[in-house]
Amino acid sequence: MRAVVFERFGEPAGVREVPDPAPAPHGVVVRVEATGLCRSDWHGWQGHDPDIVLPHVPGHELAGVVEAVGGRVTGWRPGDRVTVPFVCACGSCPACAAGDQQVCERQTQPGFTHWGSFAEYVALDHADVNLVAVPEGVSYATAASLGCRFATAFRAVVHQGAVKAGEWVAVHGCGGVGLSAVMIAAASGARVVAVDVSPRALELARSFGAAECVEAGAVADTAAAVRDLTGGGAHLSLDALGSPVTCAASVNGLRRRGRHVQVGLLPSADGTTPVPMARAVALELELLGSHGMAAHAYPPMLDLVRAGLLRPDLLVTSAITLEEAPDALAAMGSAPGAGVTVIAP
Ligand SMILES: [Zn+2]
Ligand SMILES: [Zn+2]
Repeated sequence: MRAVVFERFGEPAGVREVPDPAPAPHGVVVRVEATGLCRSDWHGWQGHDPDIVLPHVPGHELAGVVEAVGGRVTGWRPGDRVTVPFVCACGSCPACAAGDQQVCERQTQPGFTHWGSFAEYVALDHADVNLVAVPEGVSYATAASLGCRFATAFRAVVHQGAVKAGEWVAVHGCGGVGLSAVMIAAASGARVVAVDVSPRALELARSFGAAECVEAGAVADTAAAVRDLTGGGAHLSLDALGSPVTCAASVNGLRRRGRHVQVGLLPSADGTTPVPMARAVALELELLGSHGMAAHAYPPMLDLVRAGLLRPDLLVTSAITLEEAPDALAAMGSAPGAGVTVIAP
């Protein structure tokens, strides 16, 4: 099969022929119809992910058709239209037994722990736990955009954030996750304040339902701006970017007993991030993390997509070929962009 391969971290990837994957006894091989390009792929290519073994094929936001099925798989057969969460679970650890597959103790992630979906085919483990049926009427490109950013935003806003109609929700960082969160919070009946340095990102946020926007570079204190616009602070606030600055602004923009959900990853040299804990104590704030979403939680989200109440398709702004993927991957470092690029192998 053809695949995007890199041999060394940070050096140009190329498209070449590699052996076709075979399914594990509990796994499947999926023919990739669409796969999203994500800043996490760029981090992996740069060598920021210790799970990656070279040579490597990136790609973790995929949708396609089941091509081959392992002997122990009971729920899927060739021809099924499927997608997967970017966190694939083992199905048998204590976290999985509790229904929390998104924090599985033995998770695999296509494009990180094994070869991913920038290829004609991808092998996926524990298919009965991880595959999600893609309904007719939802395109492969739309389904591919669900697996990482959109499902992550959905869990952060709806499950971890427990958004309620009428609440003020602040979203710090309006890239793929942030714009998804804006759309999901607005569809839940919340009033959304979008925060970003980019006027273009804020324009998109407004078109996806943000009631108010704060241009981070144009005000002295974004948290104060959020508190002013929301009559004392947001009920729920997300750091959808993942930086010490946006994390602190999110916490500082909350009202009393507000909830902060950390969605953006926070890589740092020593693995720690300063958080305004004094405010968390004084105002009885809740500080929560959110990490992907389990496959079993997809159907209610897909119902909203099918009903047109959520429009992840609007986030997909460009489609490229596998041959164009290496250059697009390299460009993610300097210009991650507001929309989602989908690769069709
Ligand atoms: Zn991703
Ligand atoms: Zn598990």
